[in-house]
Amino acid sequence: MIILFGWNKNAERLGEVCTAYCYDCQKEVPWEVGRVTEWVSFFAVPTIPFKREHFIFCGKCGDDFELSKKEFKNVHSIMCHSDAIDHTSVKDALFKTIEQKQLAEKSEIQMRWIKANLAREEHLKTLREERE
Ligand SMILES: [Zn+2]
Repeated sequence: MIILFGWNKNAERLGEVCTAYCYDCQKEVPWEVGRVTEWVSFFAVPTIPFKREHFIFCGKCGDDFELSKKEFKNVHSIMCHSDAIDHTSVKDALFKTIEQKQLAEKSEIQMRWIKANLAREEHLKTLREERE
């Protein structure tokens, strides 16, 4: 008997988890969590999950960051009871890391532009709030 086995890899979107600033998109965007599973397959049927990785990614540009098991567990446990992780310490911690990683890829000139843009947005937000 010949047993055909191989490897499969599939990615799933698990859904939106929050709204946060993306330094690549330069605006507040929805972020989603996704999972990549590697399978051992027999006769082309994915049978045994071999490896699972979770990611959080920008819903607009797709910039993605791997979540540790602990980070995913924290996000997942909030999402079981709530619509989003907005206004939680889990989100604050997560986006502190994401911000550092996104900004680490930027040049000096890009950084200056980003800071100026953020200051302008903050200023416009204050003006809008004063008007209300
Ligand atoms: Zn983005």
